[in-house]
Amino acid sequence: MKDSFGRTIDYLRVSVTDRCNLRCIYCMPEGCDKVSMAQILTYEEIERICRIAASAGISKIKVTGGEPLVRLGCCHLIRSLKSIEGVKEVTLTTNGQILGRFLDELKDAGIDGINISLDSLKPERYSRLTGGGSLGKTLEAIDLARASGIRTKINSVLLSGVNEDEILSLAGFAFRTGLLLRFIELMPIGIADSSLGISNEKVLKLLLEKWPDLEADSTPWGNGPAVYYRRPGIRGGIGLISAIHGKFCAGCNRIRLTSQGQIKPCLCYEEGFDLKPYLRESDAELEAALKKAILMKPLEHCFPEEGFGSGEHRLMSQIGG
Ligand code: SAM
Ligand code: SF4
Repeated sequence: MKDSFGRTIDYLRVSVTDRCNLRCIYCMPEGCDKVSMAQILTYEEIERICRIAASAGISKIKVTGGEPLVRLGCCHLIRSLKSIEGVKEVTLTTNGQILGRFLDELKDAGIDGINISLDSLKPERYSRLTGGGSLGKTLEAIDLARASGIRTKINSVLLSGVNEDEILSLAGFAFRTGLLLRFIELMPIGIADSSLGISNEKVLKLLLEKWPDLEADSTPWGNGPAVYYRRPGIRGGIGLISAIHGKFCAGCNRIRLTSQGQIKPCLCYEEGFDLKPYLRESDAELEAALKKAILMKPLEHCFPEEGFGSGEHRLMSQIGG
């Protein structure tokens, strides 16, 4: 369906948990509050909302979190989302730590793509940045995902004074592996301070100095706002998701469902629409509530270029990134 600014909304990001097996320094502080399982939507409820969303025009679903794979039965949910009429694509975003053990099941469930987060190629730094993660496990999962034939992309968030010196090595990783790697500008959500973020303008300048043959590629490689760059005859490529310095709100096609049943029409604002009370109502009433939530979608985000200051104070892991 269209929102009140005429944008087609066809993409739903579904958070299945606020829990995670990592603690990335910009996403989840040590000891942060967890939502009790009683408040988290059941898979049956998620499935029902997605079925109704599909009848309202959602055709692409991304399963996320927290870390979606830490919730038992995540692959089963993906299988059932794939069977919903009107849903053309179901994908997953993961930190890759335990992905290896689920790949066969995910493939069998019909998953259309996996995004794996990778912010550093240095083992010790990776561990520090992620609060104890193993780089080896994520790299192994990336290799296995590539070998499985599932469409695989890499997501990297750059932080000033932390991993900014790895722009070229992360890009080199994309060319070496033949994968698309997207640099996502840090957004000031929860504990993230966007003055620590690196603008993609700076990233592109550096990439062009190193690889002058990089060319913008207009092929739509995904559902999102990434602008892609590739090198003639070379596999892999770089995507730039410039959430802060390249406002792409005019083309935004997405809404989010938090693990507690709130529809978030825009990442930047805390306001959302609680669907939980409507889960007791008929499908028609639930659909009407969902449509009302879509119509609440604001024209654009309010992220400042520097510092904190978004309206959203919850952690990214609590919203669903
Ligand atoms: N745990 C999974 C993962 O790390 O891929 C899925 C959830 S995570 C919240 C989804 C993506 O959001 C990750 O690529 C992460 O780096 C990114 N992310 C988290 N906080 C962010 C922020 N403040 N700004 C930009 N991206 C962020
Ligand atoms: Fe966990 Fe993903 Fe947040 Fe890192 S970015 S703490 S892996 S939810």
